Amino acid sequence: MDRVTQSYEASVSQTLFARAARVTPGGVNSPVRAYGAVGGTPRFMVSGRGPYLTDADGREYVDLVCSWGPMILGHAHPAVTEAALAAVARGTSFGTPTPGEVELAEEIVGRVVPVDRVRLVSSGTEATMSAIRLARGFTGRAKVIKFAGCYHGHVDALLAAAGSGVATFGLPDTPGVTGAQAGETVVLPYNDLPAVRAAFEAHPGEIACVITEAVPGNMGVVPPREGFTQGLADLCREHGALLISDEVMTGFRVGRQGWFGIEGVVPDLITFGKVMGGGFPAAAFGGRAEVMAQLAPEGPVYQAGTLSGNPVAVAAGLAQLRLLDDAAYARLDATSAELRALVGQALDREGVAHTVSAAGNMFSVFFRDEPVTDFASAKAQETHRFTAFFHAMLAGGVHLPPSAFEAWFVSTAHDARAMERIAAALPAAARAAAEAEA
Ligand code: PLP
Repeated sequence: MDRVTQSYEASVSQTLFARAARVTPGGVNSPVRAYGAVGGTPRFMVSGRGPYLTDADGREYVDLVCSWGPMILGHAHPAVTEAALAAVARGTSFGTPTPGEVELAEEIVGRVVPVDRVRLVSSGTEATMSAIRLARGFTGRAKVIKFAGCYHGHVDALLAAAGSGVATFGLPDTPGVTGAQAGETVVLPYNDLPAVRAAFEAHPGEIACVITEAVPGNMGVVPPREGFTQGLADLCREHGALLISDEVMTGFRVGRQGWFGIEGVVPDLITFGKVMGGGFPAAAFGGRAEVMAQLAPEGPVYQAGTLSGNPVAVAAGLAQLRLLDDAAYARLDATSAELRALVGQALDREGVAHTVSAAGNMFSVFFRDEPVTDFASAKAQETHRFTAFFHAMLAGGVHLPPSAFEAWFVSTAHDARAMERIAAALPAAARAAAEAEA
């Protein structure tokens, strides 16, 4: 790690990071980009093509972040780029309804069975925030159940997470979120159905909704136990609450219908983002007609956005979704399986304790060999080994998420050459992980 960090002393990325830190808190516009968990200088990327990114120093990396999910066809895919450029040439925002919005909404409704109607927004955060408001408006109740380790964007009420005493008491996890904002949030351990049942019993008639990541990917990938999601749906129905499945990460990534298509549990509302925007700011929430009818202007629950359904974002998203057919998902599944096997073998060879945790084609690597079922078990991994692994991969030309608690993302553009480059970087990275000291 030191060697890699030092070799960047004079780099363009380092200079940019120093400049950025003067004008932007932490030098970044989203915290995880700052390499806070792994140390060193974040690479400032200047271009991307297919499975590769090039940084400001001219170094090329195989990208396993894919913009944290959206770039499922790889970077600068010709069809997506062409659709976006054509839309730009027609004008970038009108503040009126546009035909593209209708087509994108039809594409989503046509794909995802439980979604009768959908509203477009600009970020996953907006989607979950709006879905929570709608659930509260529809039920006339205030409380929200969320799970520790699940991330639903930086919605005030959803930043409460277990793991600390304050969060356990429903108090805010971050300064700036007031007790009133977070006080209606009940945080429970993931995969623990008895805890959910107990919460419903402790707050009769008060719980508006349960929000869960369809498959948690923000504490690393932690698949739902058999029956867990169905159990949530059943409890919600029994107690008159809504189930919100957050598919911002899984939606259109793990299959045509996202995680719903794999597990088959019908939620009341689903949130989308990432893939559906084709690399532009577009997201959505949708679900049962009866619930969606409560939204303004049809119903009383207010929700709006100057750039909602932006024509450029919509055109890019639609172009991307239309290319995501069964063949594309088969390819993503195969690439993910190959990569999981390569990483597992490399770590096995060096005797590094690990678990490759997957749900569909989404996966992450935990540096512990016991099963990870919730946030507490995810946090019990040896993160110092990930740090060494990460920096060795970076030195070997592979761009991983800079945290042990993030999913890795592949694209349909990850071809044999890209996989060979990953395979070539793995032995040294596995050795670095084995030798790492806490
Ligand atoms: N929900 C999930 C499951 C996510 O993974 C994210 C972002 O990573 C969000 C919501 C928030 O989306 P955005 O960053 O677009 O606001």
